[in-house]
Amino acid sequence: MSLLIISISIAVAVIFLGGGIAFVVARGRREVPPTDVLDAITEEEIEHPEHPEPHLEDESDAAAPTTTIERPEAVQGRLVRLRSRLARSQGSLGKGLLAVLGRADLDDAAWEELEDTLLAADVGVGPTTELVEALRTRVRVEGIDDPEQAKVVLRDELVGLVGPELDRTMASVGSDGKPGVVLVVGVNGTGKTTTVGRLARVLVADGRTVVLGAADTFRAAAADQLQTWGERVGVHTVRGPEGGDPASVGFEAVQRGIADGTDVVLVDTAGRLHTKAGLMDELGKVKRVIEKQAPVTEVLLVIDATTGQNGLTQARVFGEVVDVTGIVLTKLDGTAKGGIVVAVQRELGVPVKFVGLGEGADDLAPFDAEEFVDALLA
Ligand code: GDP
Repeated sequence: MSLLIISISIAVAVIFLGGGIAFVVARGRREVPPTDVLDAITEEEIEHPEHPEPHLEDESDAAAPTTTIERPEAVQGRLVRLRSRLARSQGSLGKGLLAVLGRADLDDAAWEELEDTLLAADVGVGPTTELVEALRTRVRVEGIDDPEQAKVVLRDELVGLVGPELDRTMASVGSDGKPGVVLVVGVNGTGKTTTVGRLARVLVADGRTVVLGAADTFRAAAADQLQTWGERVGVHTVRGPEGGDPASVGFEAVQRGIADGTDVVLVDTAGRLHTKAGLMDELGKVKRVIEKQAPVTEVLLVIDATTGQNGLTQARVFGEVVDVTGIVLTKLDGTAKGGIVVAVQRELGVPVKFVGLGEGADDLAPFDAEEFVDALLA
């Protein structure tokens, strides 16, 4: 009898203990939304306010045990590694300039030729005139008559034109313990999503933690593309339903970044250049909604270097609708028109911060005026 009582007691204890453990585990797993942040939202701008829980898909993906996490290439020295691509595609610019400057007799026709070479490389009329004037003066005043001297002067003037003094660091450090927020904008096809993926690698290579926001909800597959980039380096991607509200995704990405104590949130945006008013509304809204959580620290505009004048027009339009703070020039490996670096900086009054020089995952390099000019003249 007493044996029966003891057995029953043990069974009851086991059931209670088991239930207790299950309860504790279940509690531990529960996602608790940061209510203070959510309480602050009153705007109807966010399309899913009825979901207080962050809409986070694929919770487990980022850390899926089967995924091999890649180690991105160190950021320093990338432009040097990629300089041959620049030299190859831009050779005509550097060589053309040096060929003219190396002539014994620099007559008016020679200076005109120099001007044409610069214009053909998309340097733009204003900067070309300035450069030619400066070179003419120096050649005359300094009595330059040998090609080596001419090369030194040309290098000097080109570096000055590109702007060695400009601050080209990406502003990715947040304040008050919040993440830095980088908004990436640009027309579809320029390499925007690829750039966001590559920037994640740049940051991971620097030891920073990152969350991606797939707010380009209009291009089919953009979110999948971004998520794949993220998974390769163990970075989580917050995404919404296709065709959903981009501002909502941006908001939730930053919310997730804050909750996780992440260093940087990178937000990809939709790049439909339908009407300027539409673009303005959309990008303005994304930024406003995100800033309910944390200030946007950097707005990067992605421009395809091969599109020449068209790229400059895009820069103008985006510059009018958002406060662009930096430029990423992609596909610089596929054009001899490297002068667009100068032209686009002039157009927007903001520096080129990164350049894309190929299709590889780490073919995005921080821009540097001297290294760029050296590659041109190599
Ligand atoms: P999005 O529509 O602006 O998001 O464009 P994607 O990121 O999908 O990129 C469009 C294409 O451009 C892809 O095939 C990329 O591989 C390619 N691309 C992006 N950056 C570069 C670059 O720097 N060099 C080259 N050669 N291709 C690039």
